[in-house]
Amino acid sequence: MTFAGLRGDCGQCFGLCCVALPFAVSSDFAVDKAAGEPCRNLLADSRCSIHDRLPAAGFRGCTVFDCFGAGQRVSQETFGGRDWRSSPSASAMFRTFPVVRALHELLWYVTEALERADAADVHDELRTARKEIDAVASGTPDELAAVDVNALRDAVNALLLRVSEAVRAPEATPGATPDAGSRERNAAGSPSRTARQGAGASSRGKRRGAKVAVVPRSGKHADLRGVNWRGEDLVGASLRGADLRGANLRGACLITADLRDADLRRADLIGADLRDTDLCGADLTDALFLTVPQLAAARGDAATRLPRHLDAPAHWTP
Ligand code: SF4
Repeated sequence: MTFAGLRGDCGQCFGLCCVALPFAVSSDFAVDKAAGEPCRNLLADSRCSIHDRLPAAGFRGCTVFDCFGAGQRVSQETFGGRDWRSSPSASAMFRTFPVVRALHELLWYVTEALERADAADVHDELRTARKEIDAVASGTPDELAAVDVNALRDAVNALLLRVSEAVRAPEATPGATPDAGSRERNAAGSPSRTARQGAGASSRGKRRGAKVAVVPRSGKHADLRGVNWRGEDLVGASLRGADLRGANLRGACLITADLRDADLRRADLIGADLRDTDLCGADLTDALFLTVPQLAAARGDAATRLPRHLDAPAHWTP
C-alpha cells in the first residue's frame, strides 16, 4: 500500500462522508446534521452542490476533512460498488465508514514511518502492523463493527513513538525532556468532521505528570531544537522563525500560532491541532506524521516547504 491508496477519491465513493458523519452548528458548519442523514447539499450523483464555495456557505469544516481513502474502500470493496441510496445495507455502510477511516489513518502513519530510513530498526514491526491493519480493513461489515480501534491505535502508537524518537534524536538537547507522555490525544488525532466540533479536545489520556519545557508565548527566532511540547497548549504562540527542528509537538494545540519561517524539520506533529496556524515560509520538508487535514486547516503559501508525499492545499496563498 502507498500513500496513493490513502487519499480520498470522491469519484469512487458515494458521498459517504456527507451522510455517515454528524455535524453541529458552529463556526465550521451552518447547520446541524445527524449521523446517517444526507447533507442537504449532497447531489444525487454524490457531488457537493457548494463545493466551490464551502467556506463562504458556512461549511469550512468540510474543507479540512479527508477520509484517507476509506470512502472508496467501503464503497467499492466492502460493499461491492453498491450505492447506499438503493442498498438495504445503507446503515451498515454508515457504521463501517468511520471504522475504516480510522484504520486508514493508521495506515497513513505506518506508511510514512516505513519511509524513514533513520527508523529502520522498527521497520519489520511496522510492516507486520501494516499487513495486519490492512487485513482488518478488508473485513466484512460485521467484522469491522467488532474492531477495537483504540487497541489497534495504541499498539501502532507505541511503534510510532519509537520512530519519532529515532527521527528526532539528532536534534535532541540536554534540556529537552523525555517523551514521557502527556495529554496527546492519540496517534490518529487529525481533525475530522466530528473531531473539529470539540476544538481538538483531548478524548483520551490526561497528562500523566510528564515534565515539560516552559512554553514561551513568544519564541521568535528562538533556538528550540528538540523541545518537548507534547500535548501543550500553544494557542496563538508567537514562534516566527523559531528553530523547532526535532521538536516533539505530538498532540500540541497550535491553533492560530505564528510559525511563519519556522524550521520544523524532523518535528513530530502527529495529532497537532493546526487550525489557522500560520505556516507561511515554514520548512516542514521532513516533519513527521503530517496529514492532509492538518495542512488544509492551516495557512501557508508558496514558500512553505512540505514533505514529498503532501501537496499544498488549493486555498493556500500563492
Ligand atoms: S457541504 Fe460538506 S457534507 Fe455537505 S455535501 Fe458538501 S462536502 Fe458533503
